[in-house]
Amino acid sequence: MKKIAVVGTGYVGLVTGTCFAETGNQVICVDIDTKKVERMRNGEVPIYEPHLDVLFERNIKANRLRFTTDLQEGIKDAEIIFLALPTPPGEDGSADLSYILGVSEQIGKLITDYKVIVDKSTVPVGTAEKVHATIAQNATCDFDVVSNPEFLREGFAVDDFMKPDRVVIGTQSDRAKKVMGELYQPFVRQGNPILFMDEKSAELTKYAANSFLATKITFMNEIANFCELVGADVDKVRIGIGSDDRIGKRFLFPGIGYGGSCFPKDVQALVKSGKEENFEFQILTAVMKVNEEQKTVLFPKMQNFFRGNLSGKKIAVWGLAFKPDTDDIREAPSLYMIKELLKAGASVTAYDPEAMPNVKQLLGESIQFATNEYEALHDADALLICTEWSVFRNPDFDQVGAVMRDKVIFDGRNLFDMETMNKHGFYYQSIGRGIKS
Ligand code: NAD
Repeated sequence: MKKIAVVGTGYVGLVTGTCFAETGNQVICVDIDTKKVERMRNGEVPIYEPHLDVLFERNIKANRLRFTTDLQEGIKDAEIIFLALPTPPGEDGSADLSYILGVSEQIGKLITDYKVIVDKSTVPVGTAEKVHATIAQNATCDFDVVSNPEFLREGFAVDDFMKPDRVVIGTQSDRAKKVMGELYQPFVRQGNPILFMDEKSAELTKYAANSFLATKITFMNEIANFCELVGADVDKVRIGIGSDDRIGKRFLFPGIGYGGSCFPKDVQALVKSGKEENFEFQILTAVMKVNEEQKTVLFPKMQNFFRGNLSGKKIAVWGLAFKPDTDDIREAPSLYMIKELLKAGASVTAYDPEAMPNVKQLLGESIQFATNEYEALHDADALLICTEWSVFRNPDFDQVGAVMRDKVIFDGRNLFDMETMNKHGFYYQSIGRGIKS
């Protein structure tokens, strides 16, 4: 059993804290958001993440998982302090380290015995050194700073955390290595590796992983755009190339661009880190450009269909979250589409299984929200699909057609096959598969 503090209780911190509690550790989560801490103390999970609620409840009941707004109280007894704080893009695109360094400064003033301080946030190469220097300004005791980037995916976070493909631990301290190795042992029982390395390599591993994945998606989006021009079917091409083990089947689905809190900011931050070293990441610069354009590819298709006049049209939107199984809307392509539709004078009625409260908070009354996917379709001139939630995959097309004013679907996630759409008499446009009407 280890005593652990997790500072920052968002998508990463809350999953980290809960999963460490689940393996028998004593965990205290610290957050400055008093409302969030209040909700968690009342047993409420403040984010939507499948399977998290069961673990959350169980570990609170077992007294292994507690919450506080007081950093001093949180770290007092902890041997390991995780920093799961935001690292949003600063104005110039570089990762904003003010949360991490601000908390590090406070930690330096508060610690009185040996602690392992762990960067769980995604941070640029050299941050562990900065965190170390910041804590050292005030600390009067021994401590180590470790880089332990997190690879969990929202929507699969609990599974990813409990059974990680690998755990990356960047430290050159044998003492910290031992502590971290023991902590992660229960998570790698199936034989997946704990990879020990230096701090800088660990920090870069995270950026390289996200940038590679963003590149893979973006590459496929470009192929999809070209498919449309030449009359090829991207689904066929996807399966054709994905069957090659060197390429792999995963992460090849084209769409209206990647979003979320990680890929956009991490690719941007790595490019910025490169610039600081007079190094140009040429591929990643192109990835960012192509992705920005990809978010816009469906809108002109809608405009064309309505002969340049979307004014007064009623558009139903299925899916708001940046991907399924999360309520996260950061950098979601749906937000771009909704903004353009409203600008063009259309009205929007949206449905998302989990993300509507977050969008409501952001957009207020400017759009309508439906209580289910069919309600959103009432009298709609077109349906726009922005997120591939499972619940949208197999609708009753007769009902869909019956409640819509016109049987028109713009699908940014390629949910339906062309034949089905044809059979049910829909005008259907998707990504990289030509037009069927
Ligand atoms: P988040 O915005 O969901 O959560 C951050 C939390 O930190 C919030 O609850 C906020 O109130 C709290 N906070 C801010 N300042 C604080 C302070 N001074 N003291 C205590 N708490 C404070 O962020 P997230 O999505 O969990 O991401 C955290 C880090 O993990 C980022 O660097 C991100 O890039 C990285 N990451 C995220 C994911 C993901 O899927 N979301 C995956 C891997 C890595």
